[in-house]
Amino acid sequence: MSTATANAPSSSSSSSSSTKSSLPPGMVIGPDGKPCKICTAFRHWKPPVDKPKQTQNNAQGGTQQQKTAAMMAAFASGTGFTASSQQQQSSTSTAVPEPEQYTRPAYCPPDVEELGRSTWTFLHTTAAYYPDKPTMAHRVNMLSLLRALPVLYPCSVCATHLGETMKTHPPDVSSRAALSRWLCEQHNEVNERLGKEKFDCSIDKLDERWKDGPTDGSCD
Ligand SMILES: Cc1cc2nc3c(=O)[nH]c(=O)nc-3n(C[C@H](O)[C@H](O)[C@H](O)COP(=O)(O)OP(=O)(O)OC[C@H]3O[C@@H](n4cnc5c(N)ncnc54)[C@H](O)[C@@H]3O)c2cc1C
Repeated sequence: MSTATANAPSSSSSSSSSTKSSLPPGMVIGPDGKPCKICTAFRHWKPPVDKPKQTQNNAQGGTQQQKTAAMMAAFASGTGFTASSQQQQSSTSTAVPEPEQYTRPAYCPPDVEELGRSTWTFLHTTAAYYPDKPTMAHRVNMLSLLRALPVLYPCSVCATHLGETMKTHPPDVSSRAALSRWLCEQHNEVNERLGKEKFDCSIDKLDERWKDGPTDGSCD
């Protein structure tokens, strides 16, 4: 069984030798030892395709245009055109980036990133509207929701990590502020693991992001 971390660059390197050769770098191996699509960003779902080498002029013009198109499409769809994917493309002179490598139609199933963004949006927003003084019913239901995640979250690798951190850092459902902070810290733990910036977990910043919007009124 692999202990691969979702989206870690070497995720597929811990697979068995039979899957190793056919898997792209970044494909995550699930607890069952098989490639786990929902644990993986979709840009890692397929092995990179070797493209014929371009002439100097074509490579420069075509590549830049395609890169720009890919970037714009990725930003528009929110699926993300990361610095690392851009670097990967620019450092491989034979690989011409295809826009469709970074974006997929909206009717496609989610990958680990889309699922994650949607789940964090739901969790942080639910915390932002949780009562300051929750009843016992609020607390019990919130605890059930959070404790269900390590069991039910479809990205099994993510779920395992969450279950481990929840053991040492159990949910605090005592108030809106406490719950918001606890979730922020959980999210920061994932951010740190993925090499992303940490978020400021003060209640003012959390409310600005998840409830009130910035004071300049740009979200009103
Ligand atoms: C429980 C859980 C576990 C996960 N585990 C993994 C994993 O192991 N491997 C993996 O590859 N992916 C994992 N993910 C997905 C990952 O966290 C991201 O959702 C995904 O990589 C997309 O990231 P993003 O940059 O779009 O922004 P996200 O991290 O999804 O964040 C969405 C928005 O939330 C805000 N935000 C960021 N940090 C915080 C914070 N600490 N508190 C409040 N708001 C914040 C920012 O405005 C950000 O734009 C997990 C997701 C969840 C819900």
